[in-house]
Amino acid sequence: MTSPGAETTPAFATAQVQAGYQPTGVISAVPPIHQTAAYEFSSLAEAADLFALRKTGIIYSRNANPTQQILEERVALLEGGVSAVAVASGQAAVAVTILALVHRGGHVVAADQLYGGTIDLLQETLDDFGISVTFVDQDDLGAWRDAITPRTRLLFAESVANPIAQVLDIRAVADIAHEAGVPLVIDNTVGTPHLVRPGEHGADFVVHSATKFLSGHGSSLGGVVVDQGSFDFGAQPERWPQFTGPYTRFGDLVLWERFGRGGAFAALVKSKYVHDLGPSLSPFNAWQILQGVETLDLRVARQSATARLIAEHLAQHPAVARVHHPSLAGNPWNELASRYLPRGAPSVFSFDLVGAEDEQAFPQVASVVDELRVFRLIANIGDARSMVAHPASMTHSHLTAAQREAAGISLNTVRVSAGLEDPADLIADLDRVLAPLREHALVGAR
Ligand SMILES: *Cc1c(COP(=O)(O)O)cnc(C)c1O
Repeated sequence: MTSPGAETTPAFATAQVQAGYQPTGVISAVPPIHQTAAYEFSSLAEAADLFALRKTGIIYSRNANPTQQILEERVALLEGGVSAVAVASGQAAVAVTILALVHRGGHVVAADQLYGGTIDLLQETLDDFGISVTFVDQDDLGAWRDAITPRTRLLFAESVANPIAQVLDIRAVADIAHEAGVPLVIDNTVGTPHLVRPGEHGADFVVHSATKFLSGHGSSLGGVVVDQGSFDFGAQPERWPQFTGPYTRFGDLVLWERFGRGGAFAALVKSKYVHDLGPSLSPFNAWQILQGVETLDLRVARQSATARLIAEHLAQHPAVARVHHPSLAGNPWNELASRYLPRGAPSVFSFDLVGAEDEQAFPQVASVVDELRVFRLIANIGDARSMVAHPASMTHSHLTAAQREAAGISLNTVRVSAGLEDPADLIADLDRVLAPLREHALVGAR
C-alpha cells in the first residue's frame, strides 16, 4: 500500500500513523532511520543539478534526511499545511523561522505570554543582530495594532500559552497581521494539532517544539515549522527580497518564482538558515519523534481529560487560591477555549497555592513539589510522565518581576503537565502534599 495523501487527504489519525512514508525496495513496516551524513549521486550531472537547486533531492544530512522528510510531511499534513522543515529543537524552529522572515532593521510584535526561551531569543540574541521586538499583552488587540510599524515583518504568539493557559484569539490577531501585510506565526507546541490547527484560523506559519507532545515520550529534542501556504510574499515584493529578489548564492534564482506559495519559505530555511547555522535534526531523533506522533491524538485526548479532572479537584481545594485552566467556568479564557478548543484544553495548566507573595512563597512551594511522588519535578511538558515545575524559579526565572506579572505568574504558581498515569493516583499525590497547607489555610481563615 502507498502512503495516503497523494490523491485524497487522509483523516488525522490515519495521517499521524502513515503520512510521508512511501516504502520502496525492501519494505520495512516502520519508517527506517537513515543514519548517514551524506548520499551518493548517480552522476556528476545529477550532483550539479542538486547543488544548483535545479533539482530537489538530498545531498547531505545537514539540510535533509529521508527520516526527517517523513516527519516533515506528516506534521505538515496534521497541521493542514503545505510544507514543513524539521530542525534540532523547538528553539531552533522558532529562530530559523524568525531569521527567514525578519532581517537586520526589522521588527517583531510578540505576545508577553511567550515561552521564556522565545522571549530570551527575541529580546537579547536577535536584538544583538539588529532585529527589534515589541511585546504586547496578547489579549489586547489594540496593543497588537498599535505596535506594528513599517518595519514589522511578523506577529508571533502561542495558540495556548503556559503556564497560565491563556487561549489566543488567533483569528483576531491573524486579521490584524494581514491588514498590516505581514504573516502571523503561531507556536502550537501546547495546543497540538489534535486540539487546534492555527492555520484554520488564519495563522501563516506554525512552529512546534516536537520535544513535547509530538514526541510524547520525553526522549528527544526536535522542532518543526509548518508553512500553511497562505501568505503571499508576492503581494508586496519589495518587503520580501529574500523570496522575490535574486538569491545570490544560486545565481539569479528567485525562490518565489521557483518554489512559490508553500514552497519558497522551506527552501530558504533549509538552503540558508539550516545550511549556514547547522541546527539539523538527527535522523535518530526524527525517528523517535515519528514513533510519538503515531499516538498523538490518543495521548493528547487522555492527558487533556486527566488535566481537567485534576483542575476541577484543585479548584475545590482550600490550599489552592486559584486554578488557571480555561475549561473551568469563570476562567477569563473560557469563551475562547470553547471557540478554539472544542475537543478540550491542553494538559498544561497551573494553580496558585494560598499565601502571600512574600519570602515564604518559595519554601511553601518547595514543601509541596519536593514531597510529590507520582508527579516529578521536571522542566518539560507533554511527556507521558506527569510533571510539575515552579515557573518563577525555573522556566521563567530570567523574566523581570514586571514581565512575570504580565505573563500572569505569581511566586506561588505551580505548573502541571498531566501525563498518562491513572488520574486517581495523581489526585491522591496532590492531596497528600497539600494536606499540611490545607490545615494552615483553614486555621488562617478562622
Ligand atoms: C519547549 C518549548 C519551546 C522550545 O523547544 P525546545 O525543543 O526545548 O527547544 C518553544 N516553545 C514552547 C511553547 C515550548 O514549550
